[in-house]
Amino acid sequence: MDRLTSDAVVVGAGLAGFTAAVRASEQGAKVVLIEKSGGELGDGNVLMASGSLRAGGKSPKANPAELYEFVMTEGVAYPDLVRAWAATCGRAVDWLAGSGVKIVESAPGRIWLDQSGEVSLAPVYKKDVGTRALAKLKERLFKLGGRYMNGIEGQRLLLENGRVSGLMGRKGGEEIELRSGSTILATGGFSANKEMVRQYIGPHADRCKLRGSKQDTGDGLRMALEVGAKAVNLQYFYGHLLSRRALTDDRFWPYPRLDLFVDDGMLVDRNGERFVDEGRGDVAVANEVARSDDVTGAVLIFDQATWDAARDDAFSNSVKTPAPNPWLMDNDGELFHHQTIAGLAQELGLDRSRLTRTLEQYNRALESGAGTDLPIPRTSKAKPLRAPFYGLKVVPGITFTMGGVLVNGRAQALDLNEKPIPGLYAAGDTIGGLMGGYRGGYTGGLMQAVVTGILAGENVSQFKR
Ligand SMILES: Cc1cc2nc3c(=O)[nH]c(=O)nc-3n(C[C@H](O)[C@H](O)[C@H](O)COP(=O)(O)OP(=O)(O)OC[C@H]3O[C@@H](n4cnc5c(N)ncnc54)[C@H](O)[C@@H]3O)c2cc1C
Repeated sequence: MDRLTSDAVVVGAGLAGFTAAVRASEQGAKVVLIEKSGGELGDGNVLMASGSLRAGGKSPKANPAELYEFVMTEGVAYPDLVRAWAATCGRAVDWLAGSGVKIVESAPGRIWLDQSGEVSLAPVYKKDVGTRALAKLKERLFKLGGRYMNGIEGQRLLLENGRVSGLMGRKGGEEIELRSGSTILATGGFSANKEMVRQYIGPHADRCKLRGSKQDTGDGLRMALEVGAKAVNLQYFYGHLLSRRALTDDRFWPYPRLDLFVDDGMLVDRNGERFVDEGRGDVAVANEVARSDDVTGAVLIFDQATWDAARDDAFSNSVKTPAPNPWLMDNDGELFHHQTIAGLAQELGLDRSRLTRTLEQYNRALESGAGTDLPIPRTSKAKPLRAPFYGLKVVPGITFTMGGVLVNGRAQALDLNEKPIPGLYAAGDTIGGLMGGYRGGYTGGLMQAVVTGILAGENVSQFKR
């Protein structure tokens, strides 16, 4: 059996893992970053990301007090972690830039990883924004003397006298012992683990489309739970509704996103009935559908004005993602349209009179400004829907899971009494405590990864070997 000793071992080479590894190396720690895939830059979500650096829908450079308030209003976040996150967002962007990662500001507060790279739309959408960012961090890690070892899967933490002293990994058929003063779990979330998705999100949620890396199988969460860590907010995920065709056709994931149709349209189930307040936004709605009994049965109904507003040239917007119009129409994306709502119901295979009744009730309520009085309230500023109508069969896409190992403001993993487990840290999508809630509670995956990676990396020196 191989043995390796370091001050800090980082498990998982996504944005959180690379950040933690570089930041720990900057503190003088001898660092080993292990990665289970064979990828030279891991195989995480950042390799697919759009590159928007948002912090709770705001600029990461916003006042920390404002960021803190915003996140805490969801009611499920943990104050110590949110305070540290809010205080670190601004300098995290500067740190990335200082590490050689190119950052651009397209408008005041709209901060991005450099968008000038390549995009291809088929057979699977690809964008190299994250690849270039990780390449810079890897370069810096090597300059600082850190090691990157791919093809090693972290399997089980070593717990000795209540302290984590590294972990056991597997390289091919061989076991490897990685002894370390500090262990940082940065293995992403559990969106690619169907069993965990069923257990934590909803009994049928494994029927959702995975909208992120297939490597995110919840390994870090499992390992942390095994040594007594506390996990929180496991029921929430970040994701979007996608055309249901995404289940069988790679051209429909991870884009186009359908946010606009949720904001301005009506979502019905197979019976033609509304079942969720669309005004809660696309992320919250995707969560509700994933938790329902009929994950693949929902249909978005919208009108011509919304369809027209969703038109864009795939490459003209700054994010370079395909817009729904005309992508869905041109590629047979389970989209139907008709002059009448009864005709649309027929095309969709829904009950004509039920869908007509649902739409009439919905329109009447919105016309009289009484959307919130509907049996299923309709909040936010939606307008009544006018002929001709569109119907799109949808499925929730899980980008990453929001819940995970509860950490404090130093990224230390906490036990069931919310006391630090000595030697154990978590970062990025492996953590819980920052995101989730009734309105989605998305605070930005990239900022979560960089901020908690920095916090973990800065604090490992207290557990050097
Ligand atoms: C399509 C898409 C678009 C996105 N766009 C944005 C955006 O614009 N802005 C934004 O803020 N966020 C965005 N995100 C989310 C963001 O990319 C993620 O939240 C973030 O990259 C998570 O980083 P991470 O390092 O925590 O996890 P991951 O990226 O999931 O990395 C985890 C790594 O750990 C490795 N690993 C897993 N298990 C083990 C193990 N047992 N041993 C060793 N290694 C292991 C994996 O192979 C992987 O390399 C997007 C995500 C997707 C999928």
